[in-house]
Amino acid sequence: MLCTQVSLVQQHEFHTVIVPLYCNTWSCDICAPRRRRRLVREAAEGAPNRLITLTVRAGDVAGQVSRARDLVRAWRTLRALYLRRHGKGSLEFLAVFERTRRGEPHLHILCRSGYVNQRWLSAQMARLIGAPIVDVRAIHGSRHAARYVGKYVAKGLGVFAGCKRYWRSLGYLEPSLLEERRSADEYEPPWRMVLTPWRDLALNLAPASWSILWGRDIATVHFPKPP
Ligand SMILES: [Zn+2]
Repeated sequence: MLCTQVSLVQQHEFHTVIVPLYCNTWSCDICAPRRRRRLVREAAEGAPNRLITLTVRAGDVAGQVSRARDLVRAWRTLRALYLRRHGKGSLEFLAVFERTRRGEPHLHILCRSGYVNQRWLSAQMARLIGAPIVDVRAIHGSRHAARYVGKYVAKGLGVFAGCKRYWRSLGYLEPSLLEERRSADEYEPPWRMVLTPWRDLALNLAPASWSILWGRDIATVHFPKPP
């Protein structure tokens, strides 16, 4: 598996940074739990105050994927209508697909927004895809949001060909949070790919007198400074 075999190496003057290269796919046993944790964290960080659930009119199994795509399009239209009425930035969201026991798609949307009229949503969904069953409920705090998403994540997010398992609007996370994560855009030495697992690589690189600083998913090998 790619994730455990390849490392990224960054050479500084007196130390070398080694990190594992992850494939970041949901089908990978190593990456899926990390992605799940990240999704739950992001859901909470967006400070949503509402959960909207959109449904479809259930039908034959063959139509489930196209109904999932209908949901994606319907939500895009609904949000555009909402923004037109309430202004730019008035509804930020993170949407998560669930696959019900019968295999039908449900779209759970954590929103940070003003008032959302359930009857308006329901009428629009009836008009767009003939599915008026819409649930709108309040979310009280980020823990509450994390719990909701955690629940859908634990059940296994809905997989529908051609649809993302989850996605969010650009403004859902505060720019400051994203920027911190990107860290300063200062010059950094280039990264090199090495076909060795990161822990082995760190151990190979450091003779006994050198020190290795182990972190979660990162090893820093420090060379002795010249006298
Ligand atoms: Zn992986």
